[in-house]
Amino acid sequence: TQWTSMPCQPRRISVCIRKRPLNQREAELNDTDVVTVSCQGMVIVHEAKQKLDLTQYLNNQVFRFDHAFDGHAANELVYRHTAQPLVDIIFQGGMATCFAYGQTGSGKTHTMRGNITSKGIYVLVAEDVFRRLQYPNYQKLELWVYGAFFEIYRGKVFDLLNRKKRLRVLENGQKQIQVVGLCEEEVTCVEDVIRLIETGSNCRMAGQTSANTQSSRSHAIFQIILKRRGQLYAKFSLIDLAGNERGADITTADKQTRLEGADINKSLLALKECIRALGHNQAHTPFRASKLTQVLRDSLIGENSYTCMIATVSPGIRSCEHTLNTLRYANRVK
Ligand code: ADP
Ligand code: MG
Repeated sequence: TQWTSMPCQPRRISVCIRKRPLNQREAELNDTDVVTVSCQGMVIVHEAKQKLDLTQYLNNQVFRFDHAFDGHAANELVYRHTAQPLVDIIFQGGMATCFAYGQTGSGKTHTMRGNITSKGIYVLVAEDVFRRLQYPNYQKLELWVYGAFFEIYRGKVFDLLNRKKRLRVLENGQKQIQVVGLCEEEVTCVEDVIRLIETGSNCRMAGQTSANTQSSRSHAIFQIILKRRGQLYAKFSLIDLAGNERGADITTADKQTRLEGADINKSLLALKECIRALGHNQAHTPFRASKLTQVLRDSLIGENSYTCMIATVSPGIRSCEHTLNTLRYANRVK
């Protein structure tokens, strides 16, 4: 593929698709890879190659996005075409947001948090922020950097840097939204940021029996905040969203699961409408429709807000229905 190494120009809204490789379990089950992506941003979901109950969903559907990455793409490459172009936006005082959206197990956390062998977008943004602080033009601004990390579960906010303390969200007279008492830790180097990510991620997973049970039902929001003379200057919000398939849990017998599903559904719908409003310069942004969009209000309105979405998909035929749902959602956002 002919990816350039040049950073690209920021766009108000950009949407890309990232397909993960077939994993070992899927390979053992003889799952078929039904998703093809091209470097022009084209995504094709193919006709069934094997007889399964799911064949009714398969129909060679074609979608087009700003970028599409296949299973070989490294986090750095995805980063370069999504969040990286927005780093300069925050140095210019704008608001930047990057969402990972998709089915549980499709690669959201792999993309945002990364792992030992591959840095995720949280760390890649932090590296670029601290690199830019050295630029003479930006040095003049005398900016201070802070990190915050919180979770939204069933419409409630929990601080991941403060033992999941429940926080209230208030709107003041100037229509500014405040998460009251949210820990904002000062960070002076990338290592500080890595420590915050570790603390917050461990806190998020604490008490869970398996890796994807509870964390897939909440939205995790990591923020790099720039301040100048004690005042908010800009924010980069990096969001690992709840698994979108959970939004379909609204008919299951278990009440808890149903309520979680309804809330995830509501917040993902509200998010879609807010990003669309931002992209179409609509006067009205329905940010009050969910806690997620409410806490992101200052990043989802205004001329200086930029958003990118990385929609992650699993390649297998068994995930086809969820993959198509993800692609349709991403298609509506752009
Ligand atoms: P999610 O957060 O969307 O539920 P994860 O990021 O936890 O999904 O990914 C599920 C599994 O697939 C993890 O073991 C992860 O390491 C692996 N994985 C996801 N995306 C990729 C990728 N692009 N390349 C290699 N492995 C991946
Ligand atoms: Mg995850």
